[in-house]
Amino acid sequence: MIEKLPTPYGLVRYGVAPDHPEVKNVINDFEKLVLSKKDQFTFLGNVQFGKDVTYNDLKKCFDVIVLCYGTDAEIKLNIPGEHLIGVESARDFVNWYNGFPDLHEQDHVTSAHARLTRKYKDLLSTSESACIIGQGNVALDVARILSKDRDELQKFDIPDHVLNILREHTDHLRDVYLIGRRGPLQSACTTKELRELTKLTPRAGLYIDPNDLEQIKDIEIKDRAKKRLIDIMKNQVTKHDDVTTNVQMKFLHSPVEFLPKDDQSDRLGSIKFQLNNLVVDNDGNARAVGTDQYVTLKCDVAFRSIGYKSIQVDKDIPFDEKKGIVCNVNGKVDNTSSTYVSGWLKRGPTGVILSNIYDAQETVEEIEKHLEQADDNKGGQQELLKIITQRNASPDRRVVVFDEYLEIDKHEKKRGSVSGKIRDKVMTVREMIDIAHRPQGD
Ligand code: NAP
Repeated sequence: MIEKLPTPYGLVRYGVAPDHPEVKNVINDFEKLVLSKKDQFTFLGNVQFGKDVTYNDLKKCFDVIVLCYGTDAEIKLNIPGEHLIGVESARDFVNWYNGFPDLHEQDHVTSAHARLTRKYKDLLSTSESACIIGQGNVALDVARILSKDRDELQKFDIPDHVLNILREHTDHLRDVYLIGRRGPLQSACTTKELRELTKLTPRAGLYIDPNDLEQIKDIEIKDRAKKRLIDIMKNQVTKHDDVTTNVQMKFLHSPVEFLPKDDQSDRLGSIKFQLNNLVVDNDGNARAVGTDQYVTLKCDVAFRSIGYKSIQVDKDIPFDEKKGIVCNVNGKVDNTSSTYVSGWLKRGPTGVILSNIYDAQETVEEIEKHLEQADDNKGGQQELLKIITQRNASPDRRVVVFDEYLEIDKHEKKRGSVSGKIRDKVMTVREMIDIAHRPQGD
């Protein structure tokens, strides 16, 4: 397993919200498996695919390659004003509150993470109103982190400096809007995540305008999960008066322009929305169609949360730019005899951790079908390590193996236990490597 960071677990470690520790339990299963199969499995962390090792290198070394490098880019709205200070990426914000380490910088002051910390501190301390564009689970994670009781977040693996900013600089954030371009029935979040927003009292409360539910009141909802979602919304039609932050879902709003503040031309001040109607197409899908009505909502900070997309990290990988996935059938990469793909890189950024487990099973079944074609003359791990060493002589590009990662894990858990947290993540790759490679017993 080759991984860009010195630590495994990608999305589980840096995407799943800190207050969802139960979702991260999948790490325990994986760790048990790895430790019981030490002679069959090798983790090579701090190795960047597409740079330190190319696709063609891997083909020379192994009979089977499985690509699962996920989604490294986010989708933009491409509307006027998106460049304004205060129009932010939910992906960056998620990385920030999850302590995603800096890959390039070596200290805590100049790193990209430190720059985000300074930016969010400035933005949040001057924001009364935030809009999150999108109503998927990422959007709900962002809304919850912005509004949840700070003491409740303390015990999780959210970095202390992030929590301090949320604690000290967000008390005047009165409104957090979750903006959907379609109706309540089409919102992309799941029941569990929506229910969590109803449990933020006394610090925050969820509100749905009853008029927004009026249009669906006579519709018979057959899908049980959707019905539960709408039932939750129906119980949230009373505004909470005494909360610090009011979280509101708005529907049938498409952002068309980010507008600057009157007294600061480079800073977001409001968002112009086009109001939509829903039109059901021949396939039964409800589409948002713009009307000639527009509204403007005051907004000091906006988080764009309209989905992620994968990138082609190596020019030799067959890639469908339009869909943002590696070209494949059931996980077998088109026009190849040895390459497979799994996860969001295979089918796009949809579904929860469990969906990716099913997805991996399908890919593995496909690999099993073709294993008999294996060629025994490949260079394997030894050849791969030779290539990596030749390309990367510099000390901070040294490979981190699983036992060395476990040193980072131990260090983080020990440091976290001092302040009653699950773990206190190491924030730069340089520090991770130092911990991974320091002599045992230090
Ligand atoms: P998502 O579920 O696909 O949601 C994207 C949202 O953006 C939708 O509401 C979508 O509306 C909206 N959108 C897309 N293009 C838009 C545009 N041009 N203008 C306005 N709105 C637009 O994506 P996500 O929230 O990034 O989540 C990705 C996946 O990770 C999902 O499967 C999610 O369930 C999963 N995830 C799960 C958890 C969890 O289990 N707790 C946490 C985070 C993420 P339309 O529906 O109208 O397109």
